[in-house]
Amino acid sequence: MKRRRWQFIVVHNSGTRQGNARVFDYYHRHVRRMQNGLAYHFVIGNGTSTGNGQIEVGDRWRRQINGGHVHSDYLNNISLGICLVGDFNRDQPTRAQLESCEELIRYLRERCGKTDRGDIPVRPHREMNPPRWATDCPGDAFPYSWFRRF
Ligand SMILES: [Zn+2]
Repeated sequence: MKRRRWQFIVVHNSGTRQGNARVFDYYHRHVRRMQNGLAYHFVIGNGTSTGNGQIEVGDRWRRQINGGHVHSDYLNNISLGICLVGDFNRDQPTRAQLESCEELIRYLRERCGKTDRGDIPVRPHREMNPPRWATDCPGDAFPYSWFRRF
């Protein structure tokens, strides 16, 4: 892995109550016409289509290529995307999802090294999109205080 390849870790919700990497890959590839398919680097299940807290590794992580999860080419090129399955405007993420996500983030920070300003920052998607592309992702019911642990 190239040093300083990744400068942000961005957390998303899928906005759907079910789903998994395969389903989102199909959607991104064939409906959204994204050539590299699944826009996220990782997907964390909620017990519907995959296990509760199960981490699926996307092809973009394996290939170390840009994500397609933020509305900015510049940011997609330097940001790892983690998607928690769920619609967190209606539901909360499961405890197992948050625990897996935290474990994954700690692994990624270890694996990817530091940025110029220290550990790789972890942000909800809503804080990353340019203002003209405002999003509520990962949802109004997400427990945002969780981000303070990073
Ligand atoms: Zn998002």
